[in-house]
Amino acid sequence: MDKFKPSWRELPIAAIITEPGNIAESKTGEWRTGLKPVIDQEKCKQCYICWAHCPDASIVLKDDGVVEIDYYHCKGCGLCSRICPYKAIEMVEEVVEYG
Ligand code: SF4
Ligand code: SF4
Repeated sequence: MDKFKPSWRELPIAAIITEPGNIAESKTGEWRTGLKPVIDQEKCKQCYICWAHCPDASIVLKDDGVVEIDYYHCKGCGLCSRICPYKAIEMVEEVVEYG
């Protein structure tokens, strides 16, 4: 019986290191499990605790001091939502499309 054995050449870009620092090119946001963080800018006090703690550096600090989620890289771990002292980040369901 033939078993599918992918070679390293068939692995997605996110799974291999082609050169130092190439993780920025990897669309790790596609790994989210169906929940994404959404910031309520009305509640946000711009304390930047979420920005300092995101394990994927997926919270972006804009020039005007507003924080945004980088959905291209956010994996949806939910840490920012748990850690925000002002409950300004809610994890919401998102429709995941494959293919
Ligand atoms: S932790 Fe909460 S209040 Fe602080 S910057 Fe992030 S979203 Fe805003
Ligand atoms: S859900 Fe996780 S990866 Fe996404 S922005 Fe929040 S802390 Fe970062």
